[in-house]
Amino acid sequence: MTDRWTKAPRVAVVGGGLAGLAAACALAENGIQVTVFERRPYLGGRASSYQHPSTGEIVDNCQHVLLGCCTNLLDFYGRVGVQDKIRWYDHLTFLEPGGRASIIGSSALPAPLHTAPSFLKASCLSLMDKLSIAAAMAAVAPKIPRDRGESFLTWLRRYGQTDRAIDRFWKTLLVSALNEDVERVSVTYAAQVMRESFMKSATAGRMGVPTVPLTQLYDRAGDYIRSRGGEVRFRSGVQSFRAEFAGVKLLSAEGEEEFDFVIFAVPFDVLSRMLPQSTAADPLRQTLDRFETSPITGIHLWFDRQITELDHAVLLDRTIQWMFHKSKIQQRDSGNGGGSYVELVVSSSRSLVEKSRGEILDMAVAELRDFFPAVASANLVKGTVIKEVHATYSPRPGSDVYRPRTQTVWPRVYLAGDWTATGWPATMEGAVRSGYIAAESVAKVAGVSDAKYIVPDLPAAGFMRLFG
Ligand SMILES: Cc1cc2nc3c(=O)[nH]c(=O)nc-3n(C[C@H](O)[C@H](O)[C@H](O)COP(=O)(O)OP(=O)(O)OC[C@H]3O[C@@H](n4cnc5c(N)ncnc54)[C@H](O)[C@@H]3O)c2cc1C
Repeated sequence: MTDRWTKAPRVAVVGGGLAGLAAACALAENGIQVTVFERRPYLGGRASSYQHPSTGEIVDNCQHVLLGCCTNLLDFYGRVGVQDKIRWYDHLTFLEPGGRASIIGSSALPAPLHTAPSFLKASCLSLMDKLSIAAAMAAVAPKIPRDRGESFLTWLRRYGQTDRAIDRFWKTLLVSALNEDVERVSVTYAAQVMRESFMKSATAGRMGVPTVPLTQLYDRAGDYIRSRGGEVRFRSGVQSFRAEFAGVKLLSAEGEEEFDFVIFAVPFDVLSRMLPQSTAADPLRQTLDRFETSPITGIHLWFDRQITELDHAVLLDRTIQWMFHKSKIQQRDSGNGGGSYVELVVSSSRSLVEKSRGEILDMAVAELRDFFPAVASANLVKGTVIKEVHATYSPRPGSDVYRPRTQTVWPRVYLAGDWTATGWPATMEGAVRSGYIAAESVAKVAGVSDAKYIVPDLPAAGFMRLFG
């Protein structure tokens, strides 16, 4: 600390999701006194688990996966000591209705050709589909195209993609990665996902799946903060703030409290409601009004017997998009003596928002039977549907320009969250990046001149090194 701060500055972090936790952990590591305000009784925000009231089971609000290119998320996991709770997979199984499988994974060939042998063998795509996909990949290999307002679907058509390549390859991978339909996704984000994760190196494209319920991962961040002199306050919703010359006053149910700095790591709509009714706040309020959201639906099913040996699979040509075999991945008893607990995920699930839980369960079990014949003879012991109607912000063409930076018009107020300007889509990696960016800014103002929390991207491998 510099002389200006004779004692450690007090920093409030509002929001105990990944962005807030990443910021709080980084600051606590540097001896800054941190207080996390979290409205709920647990940590993790949109990536959390809880005991589900009607099933009695501990469920994730939705399956979360990460990729090897999530360098900041992995740094955060390392910092709080949960990196061994992630299982890594270097292949994906694409299932067609009827059960035919295509396994796409990496080989010893140099990037971006490392997936080529399995891709060429994949029976879910024809030779024409594969040639068109290869041409589109070649276009983004040297450089991610700029966002010129064009949707990714228009771009795909311009690059001659076949209908099946769009449905079975591009939609499958990008709708789940970006939680938005390809006709509503910016070209830049779509190309970034393909280039940074699937083309850059075999390590970048590995898929990581937590082996424990999500809140077990993020509770450890709470322990980390407390063991470094910080505080985590649950059921502590902040209502509004007043930025003053010498500090920031936070108003919560507990009353008013002053801090030297505040990082708001709450969703954009929550922040909008907290902003002061002053003209200084108007530009930010107008910016926040421009965001739109997209839903994700998780369907949790408990069967009385095993329905598949697979840990996970991509499901083609149906409403349900992914299957995660949670009882196998988490090595937990499914609660019914040798049965299976699976979660099905539908991203960008607008078509399900108005449907009843019963309708969704019936549809899901019927569709699952098309991929796994064992479902026909299995009994569904229980099931539930978790709809996250405002799961993530929609990465539409042109949306990047209005994502705000961490600095605000108030010198002691900073922003974090997956919707802020990180260059990443709304993901756990984007959230952690935003938290690290905010923490770096606060730490520097607080006198930690060498504060550097952001971790560089993975280096390109193989032929991708030609492009950097
Ligand atoms: C269904 C679903 C599936 C997803 N799947 C994936 C995936 O597979 N991979 C991936 O990388 N990402 C995935 N994401 C995205 C990822 O979960 C988010 O990008 C990330 O968790 C956002 O973190 P955050 O900290 O920015 O926001 P949040 O997690 O929303 O955190 C904000 C926190 O602020 C708290 N809060 C709100 N109001 C107040 C208040 N007034 N006072 C105090 N606290 C308050 C909230 O309770 C919350 O804990 C998924 C998201 C959803 C919803």
